[in-house]
Amino acid sequence: MKAFDYERPSTFEDACRILHAAGGSKKVLAGGTDLIVKTRHKVMAPEGVVSLKDVPGLSDISFDPEKGLFIGPMLRLSDVETADAVKTQYPALAAAVATIGSTQVRNRATIGGNICNAAPSADSPPILMAYGASVVIGDGKNEREVLLEDFFTGPGETVLRVGEIVKQIVVPAPPQNIFAIYIKAARSALDIALVGVALLAVFDPADRVVKDLKVALAAVAPTPVRSRQMERIVIGNKLDDTIIEKAVVESCTDACSITDIRTTEGYRDTLVETHTRQALEAARSWIEKGGVL
Ligand SMILES: Cc1cc2nc3c(=O)[nH]c(=O)nc-3n(C[C@H](O)[C@H](O)[C@H](O)COP(=O)(O)OP(=O)(O)OC[C@H]3O[C@@H](n4cnc5c(N)ncnc54)[C@H](O)[C@@H]3O)c2cc1C
Repeated sequence: MKAFDYERPSTFEDACRILHAAGGSKKVLAGGTDLIVKTRHKVMAPEGVVSLKDVPGLSDISFDPEKGLFIGPMLRLSDVETADAVKTQYPALAAAVATIGSTQVRNRATIGGNICNAAPSADSPPILMAYGASVVIGDGKNEREVLLEDFFTGPGETVLRVGEIVKQIVVPAPPQNIFAIYIKAARSALDIALVGVALLAVFDPADRVVKDLKVALAAVAPTPVRSRQMERIVIGNKLDDTIIEKAVVESCTDACSITDIRTTEGYRDTLVETHTRQALEAARSWIEKGGVL
């Protein structure tokens, strides 16, 4: 592994300044579970890394019933998974994070790293997209907020410019009467997703009509992707057999699966259809019971 500089600034502004001055040759270091592995395998060769460990506030998490959830990017995945606000208000996020790697990985890896690594197979982005999350990006002087679904531009690529760091993940307050789920298909419990399906349905308990639906898929396109065609079929309807079948038929329309070392394009599409049907059936069952277990 090529030697690289290690810097550990104590302010956000200094971290941005170092990254900006390096013109892209230095990388943010969070938990290192992607960065160090890629560097060791020579997929990346940064001249230096800038640890955010000493920057205050980046591991904070807070919840406001009106404004939503605010997560610092340096919060470890195991702390996201076990945070009271996440378990009670965003249980599908807790469940999705729990599918990532092993306990050891989740004790080191951060939520910001899982997002900024921009792997199409990453497990937290689809469910965060379904919850309508955005990221706050700072360069030490200015800030901008970008919807997560607009953040990714390709495998390992994001809208982040040189010198910019994700400083917060914002998840809107969950509306009343929702059902959310993340279903992951993988070769083993510790493997990355062959396919991931995140679904969030908002329904009217009086007539059981789905008022809003967000479905986001992992590992079937260069970036996590919304399944918009399928969403359009369901919104405004009850989840009966006919609507579920129509929706499943369209579940891959916004995907562009590929064949790679893990599986084939055809099997990925079959997995999307199977898990989409499973998610819709689970939503129907939840809605029919009036949103209680
Ligand atoms: C054995 C193993 C199993 C795994 N299994 C899974 C799995 O099942 N599902 C899954 O989704 N992932 C999996 N991963 C991938 C990895 O653990 C996650 O992507 C992890 O969340 C990355 O977080 P990190 O803190 O380690 O990021 P790092 O490796 O430190 O950083 C990742 C990238 O993000 C950038 N970055 C980090 N934070 C910021 C920030 N705040 N602003 C801007 N850029 C930033 C870094 O510069 C780097 O390019 C696995 C990894 C391993 C080693």
